[in-house]
Amino acid sequence: MPLTTRSALAVRGVRTPTAVRRGPGAGPSDDGHLVIDGANVTLPIDPGSPYVVRDGRIYDGELDLGVAAAPVRRPAFYDLTTADGVRYEQIALLHGADVLASTVVQTCIRYAEAERCRFCAIEESLRAGSTVAAKTPAQLAEVAEAAVRLDGVRQMVLTTGTTAGPDRGAKHLVRCVRAVLDAVPGLPVQVQIEPPGDLDTIDELKAAGATSIGIHVESTDDAVRRAWMPGKGSVPMAEYEAAWDRAVAVFGRNRVSTYLLIGLGEDPDELVAGAASLVERGVYPFVVPFRPLPGTLAVRDGATGPTAEVVADVTSRVARLLREAGMSGADQGAGCAACGACSALPAAGG
Ligand code: SF4
Repeated sequence: MPLTTRSALAVRGVRTPTAVRRGPGAGPSDDGHLVIDGANVTLPIDPGSPYVVRDGRIYDGELDLGVAAAPVRRPAFYDLTTADGVRYEQIALLHGADVLASTVVQTCIRYAEAERCRFCAIEESLRAGSTVAAKTPAQLAEVAEAAVRLDGVRQMVLTTGTTAGPDRGAKHLVRCVRAVLDAVPGLPVQVQIEPPGDLDTIDELKAAGATSIGIHVESTDDAVRRAWMPGKGSVPMAEYEAAWDRAVAVFGRNRVSTYLLIGLGEDPDELVAGAASLVERGVYPFVVPFRPLPGTLAVRDGATGPTAEVVADVTSRVARLLREAGMSGADQGAGCAACGACSALPAAGG
């Protein structure tokens, strides 16, 4: 799919009644899940979009955009329930056609209005009853086994809200990875953490069997970090840099990634320069358009997403940096960069 088409779809979304979709929750997306030309793609589902999925294709009005598209259907494991009465769907969700994802702790110490990331809705899905506050290692193992067996899941992403301890939630992820891999040996698993205080925790995540790790900064510009992430943005960039460097030493080059959000008001040249410094460190900058999600402070305050032109421009420049460095998302082995669905990078050769 051409990058311009992918970027327009990311910004305008599509109309389709049937795709599996996550509600607003952790991080920056509540998109619907589709398979487009054989690849996972997440797109906003918007009844007002000019683009529609029809007869296995995407149309702009009557114009066939020339891409094959199929909504991801509800997986079989969603209909199961643990012995203690928790629906599997409340423990982990299908992302794309083959990624299982869970927010293992659905609360965040930074969720008070003065601290909260303005694009995030982590506790909204908890309030809506669509998930539970904390997932145990045993629950995650049970759901992973079923999702692999029944629905062909091929990798797993484990993220967490920030907890009060000095590890910010990373230690619980160590236990979760161990339990999942006991149940499904060899399943590629990515963990997503804040810098964990004691950097040895990164070694523990690797020793537990994690394939790759995301340490998500969202922007490398301190002014943007303070404006959009008052709590998380107070963690000094030096802590992120130390954590990325340790992670690259432990997991390897291009087994570490970070999100960078397009559309937080950052100058595109500075965003791309930040991405370049990450690539130099061996960290994959997963550039993703900011989406204004219901329930977020951003929407309450009237924030809007980036234009398709900015998405295409930044994405194409970051993809070029990645290609020149020989870093592909697929080589991450697991995680968002390996999945690629939430970014236009795969359409740009990144
Ligand atoms: S890129 Fe990450 S958040 Fe997006 S669908 Fe894939 S695994 Fe889920």
